[in-house]
Amino acid sequence: MTDGETPTTRPAKPALALVAHDQKKEAMAAFARTHVARLAAFDLYATGTTGGRIMEAAPSLPVTRLKSGPLGGDQQIGALIAEGRIQALIFFVDPLTPMPHDVDVKALTRLAELYDIPMALNQATAELIITHPDSVARPA
Ligand code: PGA
Repeated sequence: MTDGETPTTRPAKPALALVAHDQKKEAMAAFARTHVARLAAFDLYATGTTGGRIMEAAPSLPVTRLKSGPLGGDQQIGALIAEGRIQALIFFVDPLTPMPHDVDVKALTRLAELYDIPMALNQATAELIITHPDSVARPA
């Protein structure tokens, strides 16, 4: 770029991670289908199976799929939050089923608290976040 030129790159979108437990995957797929336009304002990350369901439900949305949650995907998202590379989390938690990776779930939500990023654990709050994308910080 020479003097006087304006940069042509668009500002980066905030990154949003999406996770849904098995009993909540249908709700997550419906959420993605209903809110395609709003979700397109974010760079989307998801755990493996959740990401697959979102891509089926809303094929136009690019999603970076990480490992499945029980195989480390929740921890990968936690690491991205700690590195400042994910700015918001939507996690449809199943409050009725004990899970082998409960400790990972707790670790992930703990990091979202620690780094003070918007975190929705149910659909009502998720809708608030995506309806107000300016409430989510842009990546540095
Ligand atoms: P999954 O992981 O999207 O791969 O099912 C979610 C979880 O259970 O943490």
